[in-house]
Amino acid sequence: MSEILVLVEHVEGQVKKVTLELLTLARKLGAPSAVWTGAGYSPEAAAKLAEYGAEKIYVADSAEVSDYVVAPKAELLAHLVAEKSPSVVLVAATAEAKEIAGRLAIKIDSGVLTDVVGIEDGLVADQSIFGGGVNVRSRVTKGTPIIAVRPNSTPVEAAAGAGTEEQVSFTVSEAAKSARIVERVKQEKGARPELTEAAVVVSGGRGVGSADKFSIIEELADSLGAAVGASRAATDAGWYPHQFQVGQTGKTVSPQLYIAAGISGAIQHRAGMQTAKTIVAINKDPEAPIFELADFGVVGDLHEVIPQLTQEVTKRK
Ligand SMILES: Cc1cc2nc3c(=O)[nH]c(=O)nc-3n(C[C@H](O)[C@H](O)[C@H](O)COP(=O)(O)OP(=O)(O)OC[C@H]3O[C@@H](n4cnc5c(N)ncnc54)[C@H](O)[C@@H]3O)c2cc1C
Repeated sequence: MSEILVLVEHVEGQVKKVTLELLTLARKLGAPSAVWTGAGYSPEAAAKLAEYGAEKIYVADSAEVSDYVVAPKAELLAHLVAEKSPSVVLVAATAEAKEIAGRLAIKIDSGVLTDVVGIEDGLVADQSIFGGGVNVRSRVTKGTPIIAVRPNSTPVEAAAGAGTEEQVSFTVSEAAKSARIVERVKQEKGARPELTEAAVVVSGGRGVGSADKFSIIEELADSLGAAVGASRAATDAGWYPHQFQVGQTGKTVSPQLYIAAGISGAIQHRAGMQTAKTIVAINKDPEAPIFELADFGVVGDLHEVIPQLTQEVTKRK
């Protein structure tokens, strides 16, 4: 069975959900080999990777890899591609992994497909492009394909793999050490799930009206165990922090459920959320473009609709 390299995303030694999605996807294509880069590798992390199908785990956790930005990771993957001849390299469609993918493609003279939401036979990728406005099917025609898959596009399924560990020793070039990490600042993390990984996202737009009133968006999100998002109009107004902006110049989300409240549905907002499985829109304007996209729409004042919705959800728990 052909080998599939899966670049592991992890934070403080915890394997991120998107990696489990990639392993699930990789099992359909061949034998997954997880590639661990940087510090934090542990028996627990190894067990998690094996639980979701990693047959092998390549570990490169030396300071040479963890102390520098993306370049050593691209070199490591190029080294593994040359040595193992995998049929494809899968990475998450995150900002960092997409940069690694691009660098890797240059090194191995191959092609990279980004924002992929599914992979069919023959490594044909379903891509959501031009800000999500167009879906295309694409295939890399030379070299080892590199495919960056959007978080939340594959349901996670456990199926044990052997999880055989192999330490990778390779020499990082001097050029790849040009940008060293001098400090890491831990981002304060609330109880809510991470926006790009959340199964449910509740987003508020200009229709929310003020920073204070964003609390109703948060309350609904908390009742659903959801992440909070915002339109650019809301973040530019200072009502919600920029890191929660969804859209072309913000985060791309692909949750099972996306609730857009007081958001008109501008193309730049859609770009970040239209691959959500189910979209619910709450807007007082029945002509708002978001309704063209929504699976369910509520025409009404969000300040009346959302508290009732939160109450109803809370009652059913
Ligand atoms: C280069 C570029 C990049 C951009 N990137 C992004 C991006 O990443 N993300 C993004 O979101 N935007 C982005 N934008 C901005 C985008 O074009 C829109 O301006 C923005 O999405 C509008 O946000 P909104 O829907 O919250 O506000 P509006 O368009 O003003 O819509 C507010 C909506 O709320 C409704 N409403 C008002 N009051 C209520 C109420 N009480 N109850 C219910 N509904 C109510 C209104 O009917 C209206 O539909 C970008 C623009 C450019 C040019």
